[in-house]
Amino acid sequence: MSNAASNGEGKMSLTAKVIVGLVAGILLGLTINILGLNPAGGFVDTYITNGLFHVVGKMFVNALKMLVVPLVLFSLICGVCGIGDIKMLGRVGSKSFGLYILTTAIAIAVAITVAVISGIGSGMDMATESAFSGREAPPLSQVLIDIIPNNPINALSEGEMLQIIFFAILMGVCILMVGKPAKKLVELIEVLNEVMMKMVTVIMEIAPYAVFCLIAKAMANLGLALFAQLIGYVVVLIAVLMLHLFVVIPFILKLFSGLSVTTFLKKARNMQVFAFSTASSNATIPVTLRTVTERLGVRNSVGSFTVPFGATINMDGTAIMQGVATVFIANIYGVDLGLAGYVTVIMMAVLASIGTAGVPGVGLIMLSMVFAQVGLPLEGIGLILGVDRLLDMVRTAVNVTGDAAVSCIVAKSEGKLDESIFNDPKAGVVAGVDIDHDAEKELADVAKG
Ligand code: ASP
Repeated sequence: MSNAASNGEGKMSLTAKVIVGLVAGILLGLTINILGLNPAGGFVDTYITNGLFHVVGKMFVNALKMLVVPLVLFSLICGVCGIGDIKMLGRVGSKSFGLYILTTAIAIAVAITVAVISGIGSGMDMATESAFSGREAPPLSQVLIDIIPNNPINALSEGEMLQIIFFAILMGVCILMVGKPAKKLVELIEVLNEVMMKMVTVIMEIAPYAVFCLIAKAMANLGLALFAQLIGYVVVLIAVLMLHLFVVIPFILKLFSGLSVTTFLKKARNMQVFAFSTASSNATIPVTLRTVTERLGVRNSVGSFTVPFGATINMDGTAIMQGVATVFIANIYGVDLGLAGYVTVIMMAVLASIGTAGVPGVGLIMLSMVFAQVGLPLEGIGLILGVDRLLDMVRTAVNVTGDAAVSCIVAKSEGKLDESIFNDPKAGVVAGVDIDHDAEKELADVAKG
């Protein structure tokens, strides 16, 4: 918690408060769960966990989501105008796409290998807990067609991330082509972008309380008894997720950029807590963008593209879950997938992660697609449904860390990473996500004119 040390006049920084909220929420939620204080329809359930905690948590997540679309739109248009060079845009796009695919493929390959070696699920005979009706994930051809919005307003209102990215890039490019007459528009969009960033800062003020509520509710409702039954699956999955977080991502970061792994991981912590609490890469976009630009020194011209793009197509943690879950269920049902089966799983999971958005529980939908492809029974998903919430939180934290790492690598390779910001432990602590109450004063001054 060293980077979360107090700043200002002895006040706790926001990061420190968020972490206190997280730990307190986990403790309270687990206490409620273990003492059985949370029966459905009871007082605690009605007024506390599904009452107060639910309302505060949901309001916060909605507030974050509220910012995603305008933030991505304005910052991406600014980013494209800031790059000013269409060739470079193409390079940033292809590099980040390649790296996102590479990290996802490595993630699932490692997951399958570890899961096969550990032999989880073999010799188990479990009744299905509940039926899972798999929704279809879209085929690749449809994913490609759907990148082009037939109505940009619709894309914005539906939060269709790939469509918004496409529209924003095209608009940015055309603004560049129009040149001088569009100067006023660029200035306006830049101001709008700044205002959106300030809104993130303001909303972050309630984060410690919201994180407390979100986590306390999730922990109170956790199926702890199920955990014991599924211990092998949970342990192997979390172990591979941690391996990816602390070994694979740092290795890739070091290999491709030479940047300090410890600095990166320290600065990523705040963003990981948000991803963990919300279980949504999409809702975390405002925080990821702030972290990447203000704390890690990635220029907005790169971060504004790589972050929303990554939230949509890069899901290392989710891919790991696909790998471990496939091996686990295959072993339970005594199905031998063979090498070809596993290669299919890797390909399917990578493709599915491109076509699906980073929202809670989407991993299960992807899993149903993978199962259908390799012929595993869909009701197998019912087995792991009960423990998926916590695992979703952990894998989302891994997902956003991958997005941030790729952003740093691409920015570094394009000369768009400010290393003085990256290496400064205090960078962005006041003006970034890790604000203290000076931001309030600053705002009040602006309001006073
Ligand atoms: N919740 C994850 C995310 O938003 C996706 C998933 O694994 O379900 O990145």
